[in-house]
Amino acid sequence: MEKKFSNMETQVIHSGSQNDLLGSLTMPIFQTSTFTFASAEQGERRFAGEEDGYIYSRLGNPTVKALEERIALLEGAEAGLAFGSGMAAVSAVLLALTKSSDHIICSQGLYGCTYGLLELMEEKYNITHSLSFMENEEQIRSLIRPETVCIYIETPINPTMKIIDLELVSKIAYEYGIPVVVDNTFSSPYLQQPLKHGCDIVLHSATKYICGHGDVVGGLAAGKKDFIDKVAKTTLKDIGGIMAPFDAWLLLRGLKTLPVRMDRHCENAARISEKLKSHPMIEKVLFPGDPEHPDYPIMRKQMKQGGGLISFTIKGSKQDAQTLMNSLKLIQIAVSLGDAETLIQHPATMTHAVIPENKRIEMGITDQLIRLSVGLEKWEDLWEDLEQALNFCMR
Ligand SMILES: *Cc1c(COP(=O)(O)O)cnc(C)c1O
Repeated sequence: MEKKFSNMETQVIHSGSQNDLLGSLTMPIFQTSTFTFASAEQGERRFAGEEDGYIYSRLGNPTVKALEERIALLEGAEAGLAFGSGMAAVSAVLLALTKSSDHIICSQGLYGCTYGLLELMEEKYNITHSLSFMENEEQIRSLIRPETVCIYIETPINPTMKIIDLELVSKIAYEYGIPVVVDNTFSSPYLQQPLKHGCDIVLHSATKYICGHGDVVGGLAAGKKDFIDKVAKTTLKDIGGIMAPFDAWLLLRGLKTLPVRMDRHCENAARISEKLKSHPMIEKVLFPGDPEHPDYPIMRKQMKQGGGLISFTIKGSKQDAQTLMNSLKLIQIAVSLGDAETLIQHPATMTHAVIPENKRIEMGITDQLIRLSVGLEKWEDLWEDLEQALNFCMR
C-alpha cells in the first residue's frame, strides 16, 4: 500500500510503502540474505525482470526499499537508492556518470573523501576535475569542456559554508545537457530540495541528519528512475556497497523526527552564531543563517533555514585552536555531524587532512578554522561551555 502526502512533517512518518503484515506499526527488519522462489520458472522470470519480487538482498530488500521510497518522496524524485555509506553513494553515482578521460566540474570545497575519490579517479582512469566557487555565469561556462559529463556540488560547502546558487548552475548545465549532482548532506531534504531547483541527482551521507542519532553509517541517492535503475544494476550491484536491513530500519526511524530535530538544530545554531560573533577571541563566524553572511540572499532562495553547522576562525594558531577544543567540557571532539550531541572538529587536521596544504588553503580551510555541529542540547548550556573555553584561550 502506498500513501502520498504533501507536507514533509507527515511524509517523514507515513509516506511510501507500508507493511501490511500482521498489522505491524513499523516496517519489519527483513534480516535475510536471499529469497526463495516458488518454482524454477519463477526464478527464471525474476532474473529476466519479467516478474516483480525479491531475489537476493544485494539486489533489493523490503526494509531497504521502504527507505529508498521515502527518500525519493522527500526529495521530490522518481526513485531512490540506499548504500552502505555516504561515500558508497558518492562513488557509485560518480562512477556511473563517467568513463575514462571524462571531466567533472566540482565546487571549490568538498568533503575530504570525495576529494580523495576524485584524485583516485584521475590517477586510475584519467577522469579530471576543475574546482570552482561557481559564483557567476561566466565562471561556470568557462569551465565546461566537450568532455565535461557532470557538475558536482556541495552547498553549503563543507566546511567553509559558502553557498552555491543551484538554480544558476542548473540553468547553464541544462543548456549543455550536463547533469548536476548535489551532495545535500548538510541540509537534509527538510531544508533544501535540490531537484526543485533544477538539479538532477541528490546524494546524502545518511549518517548525518537523516539518521540524527549517531548510530548508523549509510548513504542515499535520488533522481530520475532511469538513472537510479542504472546505478542499482551496475555500480551498486557489482561494486556491492549496499545498506543492511537493520541500518535501513534505524534510518526510517530517524527520519520520522527529521523536521522536529532540524528546527531545533537551526535555532540553536543561530543563537550560538550570534554569541560567537561578539566574542573577542573570534575572528570570523561562517554561518549561512546569519543575515550578514555574504551568501545569505542565495541561502534564502533555496534553503528553508540556515542549518545546524557553524564554522569559525579564531585569532591565534593551530595550537590555540586545539587548546580551545581541549578546554570544552560538554561539547565533544568528533568528526561527523547532525547528531543530538554537539560535536566540534578541526578540518585542517581531521576531515580535510588528506587535501594537500596549498589546495586546502585555497578552499579556505586554514589552521584557525573550527567546525561546530550544533546539537539538540539547551543552547545556553552550549554557549556557557564555548565561552569558558574561549576565555581560557585568551588568558
Ligand atoms: C560525511 C559526509 C560524506 C561521507 O559520508 P559517509 O557516510 O561518512 O561515507 C559525504 N559528504 C558530506 C558532505 C559528508 O558530510
